[in-house]
Amino acid sequence: MQFGYSETCLEHDTGDRHPETPDRLRAIRRALAKRHGVDYVESQPVEQARLEAVHDADYIAEVKQFCEDGGGNWDPDTVASGSTWEATLASAGLAEWAAREAVAGADGRETPFALGRPPGHHAVEDDAMGFCFVNNAAVAAQALLDDGEADRVAIFDWDVHHGNGTQDIFYERGDVFYASFHEDGLYPGTGKVSETGEGAGEETNLNVPLAAGAGDGDYLYAVDETLAPALERFDPDLLIVSAGFDAHRHDPISRMRVSTEGYALLTDRVRDVADASNAGLSFVLEGGYGLDTLSDGVATVHETFDGRRPIDPDEGPNEKTELLVEDVRDAFDL
Ligand SMILES: [Zn+2]
Repeated sequence: MQFGYSETCLEHDTGDRHPETPDRLRAIRRALAKRHGVDYVESQPVEQARLEAVHDADYIAEVKQFCEDGGGNWDPDTVASGSTWEATLASAGLAEWAAREAVAGADGRETPFALGRPPGHHAVEDDAMGFCFVNNAAVAAQALLDDGEADRVAIFDWDVHHGNGTQDIFYERGDVFYASFHEDGLYPGTGKVSETGEGAGEETNLNVPLAAGAGDGDYLYAVDETLAPALERFDPDLLIVSAGFDAHRHDPISRMRVSTEGYALLTDRVRDVADASNAGLSFVLEGGYGLDTLSDGVATVHETFDGRRPIDPDEGPNEKTELLVEDVRDAFDL
């Protein structure tokens, strides 16, 4: 894969006891150093106007000022330092770069993956939350739409938390499809099946709030029965994966049971979904807080594009997942 990476993203300092640390990127780099075919690209920071295309301009000015004043606690979870503004521009720039590469035809071993931080999917139009200041995937999607490089963009968010920010930003939009698989009841508490979009965005917002304990078989079943048919119908030009690795069975902050191999299987399925619509495919890093499971997860995504065939899981979905998937299919007439 081509990995978008910038040292500037290491400068976003969240303090000593925060799970979203620069060590996450360092761990990923160490794991990728042991794989072949890894390329790094440092893209330009995003232009501020790109941020204002999805965020309130006053909010963006406020974040910039907050960082220039030295940062601090925006809220109890979301911490900025003096360098967070530059890291935020770099992180969104990497997501934009990845989306552009994908639409320009970078696929297979050239598939782009933006390794930025801070992460983005909780950032709403006018507020930071959940470690996120700027919604990187949303900025990337909007940039490609604004430039006429894509007419329809899908974002699939497999982070264990619901991407409330991405959902909110595009909730009434018919040209962006947002799909999230997340653990029901976890932060931030949004992401119900009934939240399907409004107005022009009706049926372009798909939530699969899986019960705690869901594993590889549940995730794959949900992809096959909900995401794949919904995106076949939506027919995107670009599919952005908001890739968090905190649904891993050994991640410290979730109760899901996805294995490292599960991320290879998900990657393989997502590639098929993108191919079915002839869509470009890019990845943007979101969460993942066990340094070993995070770095193994990213490396596994890479290996899948490097030609390694994933091994099928031994288990199918459980009964809760089957019932949930039936609800989602009903809500979308799938
Ligand atoms: Zn997360």
